[in-house]
Amino acid sequence: MSQSLPLSGKTALVTGASRGIGRAVAVALAAAGASVYCTSTKAGGCDETVAAIGALPAGSGKGRALVVDVADAASVEAMAKHLLAEAGTLELLVNNAGITRDGLFLRMGADDFDAVIGTNLRGVFLVCKAFSRTLAKAKGARIVNIGSVVGITGNAGQVNYAASKAGLIGLTKSLAQEFAGRGLTANVVAPGFIATDMTAALPQEIRDGMLKNIPLSRFGAPDDIAKTVVFLCGDGASYITGQTLVVDGGMTM
Ligand code: NAP
Repeated sequence: MSQSLPLSGKTALVTGASRGIGRAVAVALAAAGASVYCTSTKAGGCDETVAAIGALPAGSGKGRALVVDVADAASVEAMAKHLLAEAGTLELLVNNAGITRDGLFLRMGADDFDAVIGTNLRGVFLVCKAFSRTLAKAKGARIVNIGSVVGITGNAGQVNYAASKAGLIGLTKSLAQEFAGRGLTANVVAPGFIATDMTAALPQEIRDGMLKNIPLSRFGAPDDIAKTVVFLCGDGASYITGQTLVVDGGMTM
């Protein structure tokens, strides 16, 4: 039998775990011992993530795939019902699913605004709500919401996205206050520029310009965020709540 890992015995949910940051977070939580439910909007979307978890050393947590559209209340309810029927509990909730629909404000339609708020902010509300009673009952439960530095600084071309991520900070601080008495902590991890499909879509000149503004001289990797999430889910972070931890190579200091 292998040694107990820091998150052994914990059940985790990571939304948007099919690729990018969410996949890295799911694998890192499993490597730390947690059993991890991984979500995508598509059946089979998390196959590679679950396979990567399956390839971890013995004693690591197991990975399971679930389908959910966090922007759809009925879909979130069904996913939560399934998870709780199977696992019985949830201790670690990582709200990572997110989208962009960038465009200058003068050209941004209300549908672009609603779509981004619907997934990035209302989606987090719905998922937190679906598990709030379970998390409040669990011992030492954690919510980690993946925000963005853009929620702090704003960004031209991202009025919708910046509003969603700024809103997430307010949502998280309020949850942290409401649930502190139950020992539940809620924090935001705010990445800077992380190399994923989301940022691969940006034009090369924007990528070059951003790199010049990163004191640590590299784009972040999904693992940089995953390590921070594992820290916030572990014992070392039990006295941290309501915080926004910026992980951006110094870009916005
Ligand atoms: P990504 O590669 O585009 O992956 C997005 C994930 O979200 C996918 O797993 C996708 O699932 C899921 N998703 C999208 N819409 C969803 C919905 N309605 N319901 C459920 N899941 C949904 O993105 P990423 O770069 O890893 O970003 C992950 C998080 O970090 C996001 O919240 C993003 O805003 C934040 N972030 C990223 C960066 C960066 O530089 N990359 C910087 C700051 C913050 P499917 O399998 O269904 O497509």
